[in-house]
Amino acid sequence: MPLRAARRHNILASFGALMLAGLVGIALISFLRARDLLHRQISGTTLPLTSDTIYAGVENDLLQPVLASGLMARNTLLADKLARGEADPDRIAAYLRGVQERTGAVTAFLVSDRTRSYHHPSGVLKQVSPDDPQDRWYFRFRDSGRTFEINIDRDTADLQRTTAFINVRLLDADGRFLGVVGLGLDIRSLMAQLQRYQQRYGGRILLVDQQGRIKLAADRTTGSLDDIVGLAPHRRRILSAPSTALHLERIGRTSYVSSRRIPELDWVLVVQQTSSLALRQLENLLAQNLIAAVLISLVLLSLAQLTVGRQQRELERLASTDSLTGLLNRSAFEPLFQHHVAETRHRREPLAVALIDIDRFKQVNDHYGHPQGDDVICQLGRRIVQHIRPVDLLFRWGGEEFLLLLPGCALPRARDLLERLRSDLHDQPVALPERTSLPPFPDQLLPVTISIGLSVHRSEESSAELLQRVDEALYSAKRGGRDRLCIA
Ligand code: GH3
Ligand code: MG
Ligand code: MG
Repeated sequence: MPLRAARRHNILASFGALMLAGLVGIALISFLRARDLLHRQISGTTLPLTSDTIYAGVENDLLQPVLASGLMARNTLLADKLARGEADPDRIAAYLRGVQERTGAVTAFLVSDRTRSYHHPSGVLKQVSPDDPQDRWYFRFRDSGRTFEINIDRDTADLQRTTAFINVRLLDADGRFLGVVGLGLDIRSLMAQLQRYQQRYGGRILLVDQQGRIKLAADRTTGSLDDIVGLAPHRRRILSAPSTALHLERIGRTSYVSSRRIPELDWVLVVQQTSSLALRQLENLLAQNLIAAVLISLVLLSLAQLTVGRQQRELERLASTDSLTGLLNRSAFEPLFQHHVAETRHRREPLAVALIDIDRFKQVNDHYGHPQGDDVICQLGRRIVQHIRPVDLLFRWGGEEFLLLLPGCALPRARDLLERLRSDLHDQPVALPERTSLPPFPDQLLPVTISIGLSVHRSEESSAELLQRVDEALYSAKRGGRDRLCIA
């Protein structure tokens, strides 16, 4: 029995392991597939779209003013005015006011190289000087030789406010440097747009110049591309190619980088996006699926264990039950006998065994038929049960023979019990089913007597030896005239 149970446990354990492996496999495959899709979705769709939209935003907010500044620089009248010694500063101021109104800029300005005057829509503000830190931009730009530049100036008093100054070189007809004209733009809305995108995609949005210096960053990062972990190795490619799409793997973190040059500004737009947020959600889902897999396996395994166990017990019960009487059958005897031998030996108690056989049963069958005979056997079984204790075990031993195992019952007590049973049957005949109306017994009552062989188990005696003795005692009872009990 324990061997069979062990094999059953092995089978159930393999079944559970297989199911768990299957469920875990499915969870892992769907995770990998979803991760792959996520990566493709980011690099193929989300990132290019983000990059396009931001590019459009930058073009819209910065490109128009750059063109306007370019037009200012090519304004020959302005060049003439400067060349002729800025005789009329008011007209320059009026011109600047007009430009400022047309472009919606915060300010428009002109710095004359010859007089160092800083012209503003309200007139000449001051003279620029190389010693004033505020004016350093002018001398730097003048000496750089560049045609134009955009400087982002963060208002330290109001962090939200960000101004972009577009500086354009003003030359006379012969290409001689006259000064710098330009516009100051409020780019708060552009910054807000960049920040919105950065928040939504958890990435990084940068505008860098040709040297890799960060000009504008949604998260207000300053410095250069070289300072940004992950991007620094790709600096050359990002700065030189018209556009790039990179896929960066860093310890458990994938990020995608898209860059594109904005030729009109001489800048490069860099959009970096990580998959960590969506990936974390996928990982959480995987963890949930794995827990569910384990739970499902455990629940199904317990159900299987219960069902198989119940079926096993039912099979065992059927295998040890006599189908006609519902009593224990012969094959159930040996293990129960051994169990009680051990028990009673341990408790130093006797173990009585009796064989009960119906007298002249062939006649019952012959006279009333086999089905009535069966009914008599069943009734007798019930009559015996009425006389025994709950601890006693009654087996249908075969045909019309019963075996009784009486643990803890010594010979005199067993004899008394069985004598009572015998005389009870003698005095009170078994009732026949009503459909039988055959003579010779009136009132459907059939005198059924029994013969009994009785003995007590001797230590070291096998069941076969004991049964042999009891059988001999029963035989003696039959020979002695039936309806009696004999002790071996
Ligand atoms: P004795 O007093 O010597 O025991 O006489 P007997 O007629 O009872 O003889 P024996 O015990 O040798 O015969 C038992 C008979 O019981 C034989 C068979 O026809 C009948 N029998 C055996 N099993 C069944 C059964 O399941 N149902 C019925 N109806 N009869 C059975
Ligand atoms: Mg018999
Ligand atoms: Mg008999």
